[in-house]
Amino acid sequence: MPPKSADNNMKKIVKRKKTKKMKNIALERINTLFKEAQKAAKTDPKLANRYVHLARKISMKSKKRIPAELKRRFCKHCYAYFIPGKNYRIRTQRGKVVYYCLECKKFMRFPYLKEQKAKRKAKTVSKKQ
Ligand SMILES: [Zn+2]
Repeated sequence: MPPKSADNNMKKIVKRKKTKKMKNIALERINTLFKEAQKAAKTDPKLANRYVHLARKISMKSKKRIPAELKRRFCKHCYAYFIPGKNYRIRTQRGKVVYYCLECKKFMRFPYLKEQKAKRKAKTVSKKQ
């Protein structure tokens, strides 16, 4: 009989209790980091990039996703914080918003979700009538 098994079980339970609280803190920290990045972007773009880097690290460590509205604030390829009118361009193309990063010259595409959802709702309503 291995006498250590009871000890191992105890440790697992303690770890699980911690993670739930940690996730909420992680989300708060991600939000505040993006607020700080926004402030820093005007004066120090490098600092803003560093905040993005930190926010990503926290999200990966805590397995918490970066909120959808914050995902559009930085480049998914090089993680540069987007500064309006400076390091990125936005165009619309075939029902999608295209972000072009001037730092790494790559594209990011987002569907216009709100408009599409409204269309779908309009369709289902018209079918019912
Ligand atoms: Zn980029």
